[in-house]
Amino acid sequence: MIMMLDKFLNLEGVVINGYRHLENIGIVFEIESKSKKAICPCCGKVSDKLHQNHRYLVKDLPMSGQEVYLKINRRQFKCDNCQKAFSEKLDFVANKRTYTKRLALNILGQLKEGDILNTSKRNGVTEEEIQRMLEDIAEAIIHQDVSGLKRLGLDEIALVKGQKNYCAVLVDLDLGKPIAILEKRTQEELRKTLIGWGVEVLAQIKEVSIDLWEAYRSLVQELMPSAEVVADRFYVMKQVNEEFRQTEKSRKKSRR
Ligand SMILES: [Zn+2]
Repeated sequence: MIMMLDKFLNLEGVVINGYRHLENIGIVFEIESKSKKAICPCCGKVSDKLHQNHRYLVKDLPMSGQEVYLKINRRQFKCDNCQKAFSEKLDFVANKRTYTKRLALNILGQLKEGDILNTSKRNGVTEEEIQRMLEDIAEAIIHQDVSGLKRLGLDEIALVKGQKNYCAVLVDLDLGKPIAILEKRTQEELRKTLIGWGVEVLAQIKEVSIDLWEAYRSLVQELMPSAEVVADRFYVMKQVNEEFRQTEKSRKKSRR
């Protein structure tokens, strides 16, 4: 039975030790990594000395209309070299986060259609958790190389409906990579980011896909005079989501 559940849960490298159905809450899977070892983050040595088990709950994608929680055992190992205990890294959930990475991706994708409050209600996560998801992604892409940028996409995410509170997503359309996430979509904020790229980068941009705030348009025309402005509303977020999926995949591969 548990073997079959494994397929439904669809998390690589994980073993299900048990599950419970809790009325009005959902399904809780007790899981841990199949690996008997972990890599010490300090020295890089592999350790198989289990120090202690540490179980905690995170939220995952819903299944058949029911909420799903994972009771994860993030084990602590002891490093022979450093003589210190460390927590293992898990591919599917970031450290100190209350949700799986795939749930975060799914929710961020939904922000295109709804604001944070509605998306948080629909998914049973807090607005703070969604903010955190956005911050994590913004941080992950902070040092993107923009020297080859030719086609730029600008899009927005509504944070609070009706409050004109948005953040902006900048994407390299050729690479399909997010380049920056701006906390605010103000002209000032965007200007700072664009000018930070330097004159040469701005001069080589041939196309800007923009379907948002009119104020962006004039700024683009001012700073990137050789760029053609096109509009494609759904393209940008599609690229962003695809890129996040790719990053996840390559991260998993590089672990093996
Ligand atoms: Zn070590």
